[in-house]
Amino acid sequence: MTLEHFVGGRFTGTGKTFAKLSPVTGELVTEVCEADESTVDAAVAAARAAVRGPWGRAGELERAAVLRRIADELERRFDDLVAAEVADTGKPIAQARTLDIPRGAANFRAFADIVSAAPAESFSTGRALNYALRKPVGVVAIIVPWNLPLLLLTWKVAPALACGNAVVVKPSEETPSSATLLAEVMAAAGVPDGVFNLVHGFGPDSAGEFLTRHPGVDAITFTGESATGSAIMRAAADGVKAVSFELGGKNAGLVFADTDLDAAVAGSVRSTFTNGGQVCLCTERLYVQRPIFDEFVTRLGKAAAELAWGWPQDPGTATMPLISRQHRQKVLGYYDLARAEGATVVTGGGVPAFDDARDGGAYVQPTVLTGLPPDARTNREEIFGPVCHVAPFDTEEEAFALANDSDYGLAATVWTRDVGRAHRAGRALDAGLIWVNTWFLRDLRSPFGGVKASGIGREGGVHSLNFYSELTNVCVDLS
Ligand code: NAD
Repeated sequence: MTLEHFVGGRFTGTGKTFAKLSPVTGELVTEVCEADESTVDAAVAAARAAVRGPWGRAGELERAAVLRRIADELERRFDDLVAAEVADTGKPIAQARTLDIPRGAANFRAFADIVSAAPAESFSTGRALNYALRKPVGVVAIIVPWNLPLLLLTWKVAPALACGNAVVVKPSEETPSSATLLAEVMAAAGVPDGVFNLVHGFGPDSAGEFLTRHPGVDAITFTGESATGSAIMRAAADGVKAVSFELGGKNAGLVFADTDLDAAVAGSVRSTFTNGGQVCLCTERLYVQRPIFDEFVTRLGKAAAELAWGWPQDPGTATMPLISRQHRQKVLGYYDLARAEGATVVTGGGVPAFDDARDGGAYVQPTVLTGLPPDARTNREEIFGPVCHVAPFDTEEEAFALANDSDYGLAATVWTRDVGRAHRAGRALDAGLIWVNTWFLRDLRSPFGGVKASGIGREGGVHSLNFYSELTNVCVDLS
């Protein structure tokens, strides 16, 4: 089977294809068509025609009803989507069933509610009535990575459609399957032709770049590496296109001596190793107050070493492979670098041996490191694997300074029983998302995004509506 693009409501192939390999075994999952410039042109033209048609003029409640039908259809295709996502990423089936796929439908339901309830601004004086209209931006390019494929894609498609735009999406070359199923879902839900278009391919000199420098694209929303964000920003500059960027992280976790240690260890295991450490929000730097440092490191190392290995389809599996052999090379390079920089490897640091087909995959061991200074490259660069470095601190002030000593500023996690400290952390930490005594707990109405090299702009709730719509002020003279 070869996965095709979806343009103007129809699946369409191109001559050139590429192979998507399983991260679990290295075997072929599927062949995928690679979009050339003319396919991207056709997708943008289809989107332009759709946004100029009845879809672009539809009312919020009408669009919300379409979003709810999409959510229903996603739920109907639940098992197919779980299977697609597990095949592409090797993630544990339990995670796909409880997080990735449910969030796809939840994103559409949430933005159906949010757009239905969004208030319209109006100001009146005796002389004039001013009111703001929300209009679609137009054609929105959506480019997403491979770590949480359906979740991150629908997080952008849902608000873009809620605001009346038409979209051209490019999933990662590593995870083409659930996006292709989403195109089927759109057709089955009765989304008008051209409102949702899908092109497959790579980034530079391929579908990603063709899309970001396309003059017919009005706005670009992107999730991925900070370096890719820079390249896309350069491409967007020519057309002065609006951009929304959710980029990389080097997130800190701060564990204070007053914490509930069981909860802090369990929470840090989740925040470091979920999805094989391949979540932008994962913790890669842990700072632990000195009185509990040794015990915390021992317990975290033990928990990491005991994470359950298994095939993705086994219900108890807690580990997963990295997305590809290429990404594994990068992560193993950091394991070597950490040793060369003088780290102590508490646990992990290598590749597991299975003695079965998984030896052809892209697995690495969950790894805990200590002993490096803040300026070691291991502590500064995003690794994006199941690994963290743990260092001690003495005072709250020092902990906040260590957390902020990073080029990134996506998320931070604080473990403490001191309510005052929790609120001080909210003010002191340079991050777009700060969790206290939890991790990855999300209310889709709340703002999401990073500071510094971790992003530009906020999505979530009304912030998404603001990015995906143009506000037009109408001023009527009442005299
Ligand atoms: P990536 O930047 O390599 O690729 C992301 C997407 O961009 C892919 O679809 C890719 O094909 C495309 N792309 C690459 N180069 C491009 C170019 N020049 N022009 C247009 N498109 C291009 O990222 P990745 O390796 O797929 O994902 C991992 C990264 O994503 C990590 O840095 C992670 O932190 C980040 N991420 C951030 C968030 C967030 O919300 N902040 C969420 C998930 C992942």
